[in-house]
Amino acid sequence: MGDLQPRAGVHFPRSTGEFQSWFATDADCLDFLDWLRWPSGFACPECGHGGGWAVADGRYKCAACGKRTSVTAGTLFDRRRTPLTVWFTACWMFAAQKGGVSALSLQRSLEIGSYPTAWAMLHRLRSVLVRPGRDRLSGTVEVDETFIGGEEAGLRGGRARGKKSLVGVAVEVRQPRGYGRCRMEILPDASAGSLHAFLTRHVEPGATVITDGWMGYHGIAGLGYAHVRRSQRAARARGEDPGKLLPGVHRVASLAKRWLLGTHQGSVEDRHLQSYLNEFCFRFNRRRSRSRGLVFYRVLELAVSPPPSPRRSHPPRRPGEASRRASSGHGRPGPGEPLTWHSPVS
Ligand SMILES: [Zn+2]
Repeated sequence: MGDLQPRAGVHFPRSTGEFQSWFATDADCLDFLDWLRWPSGFACPECGHGGGWAVADGRYKCAACGKRTSVTAGTLFDRRRTPLTVWFTACWMFAAQKGGVSALSLQRSLEIGSYPTAWAMLHRLRSVLVRPGRDRLSGTVEVDETFIGGEEAGLRGGRARGKKSLVGVAVEVRQPRGYGRCRMEILPDASAGSLHAFLTRHVEPGATVITDGWMGYHGIAGLGYAHVRRSQRAARARGEDPGKLLPGVHRVASLAKRWLLGTHQGSVEDRHLQSYLNEFCFRFNRRRSRSRGLVFYRVLELAVSPPPSPRRSHPPRRPGEASRRASSGHGRPGPGEPLTWHSPVS
């Protein structure tokens, strides 16, 4: 689907009014998912065969292996009790509002019974935003760490102080001015091991990496980066504000903190922080998108993308053996861990 240039009004709705008329029923939503998932016709997720025929209740039967597949199988929408029209409305609100939507306002707008249901839907949406195998940052990239969370986390439920999380921030610096894409990831610590791994995961070798003088960044030239160090001590000696040495990462970090306090009123648990950071980066990296409908299209596209390697994502299980997938959580997959769309049936 990489070559497809989606056109407003053709491939996605331009306005809320259009959205409502396009997706009035679950069948409308199924049609759209069908087209998104198999733009050049049905392909069997089981055996990879490219051909089959439609059978009852929106399923396809593979012409080769005979397995029946629904368009939602293996996607975010698989085996959900919530109607697709409600899911689509949640996707629309998630995408159409620049700052996103809180679980509380989603619950109110959709008249979903419970806050946990609304929260779980948003959490599922966040879980697909990190595309496996996405490009790493390139060009000139500022990198730094910051602390996020902790004392802000208690705003809803009293003044409970949580632990702040150390977060790695990387952002592309454009010439003559402005910023490109960003990445944020919770780090175990600020050691060289953690920071080097963060760089390797998120920044393309050959990039110019700008850091402060912290020793954890020593040796990154050996990883293939051109390293530019901006020493805080030297800045102080020059009478400059050392806090302004890395303006890009500081801008991204402060926008992220403001977004967490704004849209989500700071009510983000530490263990879910990474998925909120993923959502923030997704939004930041699409901040110039003129059309919110296009963002909606991208969210749905990610939601129906099959896992990168079906075989690895469907490990054979002995009959009766319980799935271990549920314990892997919904957050960002670790290195080498395939991103799967599976979770206990809700
Ligand atoms: Zn098949």
